[in-house]
Amino acid sequence: MEKILNYINGELVAPESGEYLDNYDPSRGTVYSQIPDSDANDIDMAVSAAKEAFPLWSKTPREERSRLMLKVAELIDENHEMLSRAESKDNGKPLKLARRVDIPRASSNFRFFATAILHESTEAHRMDETAMNYTERTPIGVAGCISPWNLPLYLFTWKIAPALAAGNTVVAKPSEVTPMTAFLLSKLCIEAGLPKGVLNIVHGLGPKVGQAISEHPDIPIISFTGGTATGKRIAATAAPMFKKLSLELGGKNPNIIFADCDFDKALSTSVQSSFANQGQICLCGSRIFIERSIYDKFRDAFAEKVQKLKVGDPLAESSHLGAVVSKPHMEKVLDYIDLAKKEGGVVLTGGQQIVTAGELSKGYYLAPTVIEGLDYNCRTNQEEIFGPLVTLTPFDTEEEVLTMANSTPYGLSATLWTNDLNRTQRMSTSIKAGVVWVNCWLVRDLRTPFGGVKQSGVGREGGWDALQFFTEKKNVCIKL
Ligand code: NDP
Repeated sequence: MEKILNYINGELVAPESGEYLDNYDPSRGTVYSQIPDSDANDIDMAVSAAKEAFPLWSKTPREERSRLMLKVAELIDENHEMLSRAESKDNGKPLKLARRVDIPRASSNFRFFATAILHESTEAHRMDETAMNYTERTPIGVAGCISPWNLPLYLFTWKIAPALAAGNTVVAKPSEVTPMTAFLLSKLCIEAGLPKGVLNIVHGLGPKVGQAISEHPDIPIISFTGGTATGKRIAATAAPMFKKLSLELGGKNPNIIFADCDFDKALSTSVQSSFANQGQICLCGSRIFIERSIYDKFRDAFAEKVQKLKVGDPLAESSHLGAVVSKPHMEKVLDYIDLAKKEGGVVLTGGQQIVTAGELSKGYYLAPTVIEGLDYNCRTNQEEIFGPLVTLTPFDTEEEVLTMANSTPYGLSATLWTNDLNRTQRMSTSIKAGVVWVNCWLVRDLRTPFGGVKQSGVGREGGWDALQFFTEKKNVCIKL
């Protein structure tokens, strides 16, 4: 059985302990590879390698850093099909989604930051004849990057690429649930000729490997994407050490549909924004609010479309949804479906596990589920579920829908469907979210800021913000 290895100091190595964990294919419910059960010793070795590599990498001319990173991007593109298949097998997502979104966005992460550093400038402030100030930005040192399982290579590279481009060296941990594409990336980095120690990837469990990154005294900056509870734990460890932190956390995003919208577009995009990647995208709209005058029409059309979605083998072209990522996660979503019923919800479609015959019979498949009749304040509508489950709620006024939309502890993203420009401006100003999509969803421009508010996170990521995050700012004041 294939053994995944750590990538430390330019080499693929076994964990110090010699221990491994099972890695499951969620579409079949079977173990198909093994992953290092690393610990603080492996993190120590990775940090030593990254520290040693830092002086040279941080002084490597931008053009050279850019060239090496573009080479990695090129290799990701050349291996697009192999990586897409690996991502789909590790995560359970439809292969066509990995081909269309995950892998292309991973290479564009490298490409964007590799070229962004070639066009950076800095501010200067002249004080008449007294002095000239300019802002200097320097890389910080060894950056810790920790990422989740839902968009494995895409989110992993979104952290690593700006950290490296800015001149830091990196110790990174992908989710233990989906380690395969990070392992394949380490092979591509070796092929690209990335100098040893510049990027180190250590696999293993969050409470061991992730915790060791959070508490390591020689990692002064951490970029984390994952659940809010884990983010709190990392902040509690890292804040007293005054580490620089970016936390991209959970969401419970509203999708607000006004009667004046383009109905067909709102309908078909809402099906995607509810169930893409089995609803396991932090930006999925899990609470759909519909203006009362079109509520019945939208509800019936939505439920009908969702009923037609095909759940099945992620490798099959015909599958709209694959498997959810793990058995515990499937059970968590099923528990929430029970809770929603207890809270008075009516299941319009879905609501159960899908058990198929043959080799998929042990896979973790759930029917896409639509529920109505719930109070906006109930647990189902307040807690992040992160699966193929959405709720429908009618509203009468802008004020009312704003109260409901802003009622959760989260504030990651929101979607608005309306053709009224003034309303768009009013609503997008008042919605508490880091991203507001109007008449679209998941459109990404890497130059823009990205990140949540409230319990969805702190420290913006995204293009220029990410490069700035990974640098230290200094004002240099020269007396004239
Ligand atoms: P988790 O918080 O469980 O895990 C995220 C990462 O943190 C994993 O690599 C995990 O390792 C690691 N980890 C776990 N415990 C610790 C610890 N004590 N110290 C340091 N690291 C630790 O999130 P999931 O992987 O379950 O991902 C889903 C969550 O991510 C959802 O809440 C989703 O909303 C959020 N997310 C947010 C995004 C955003 O941009 N705001 C984007 C995508 C997802 P291991 O896997 O081994 O447990």
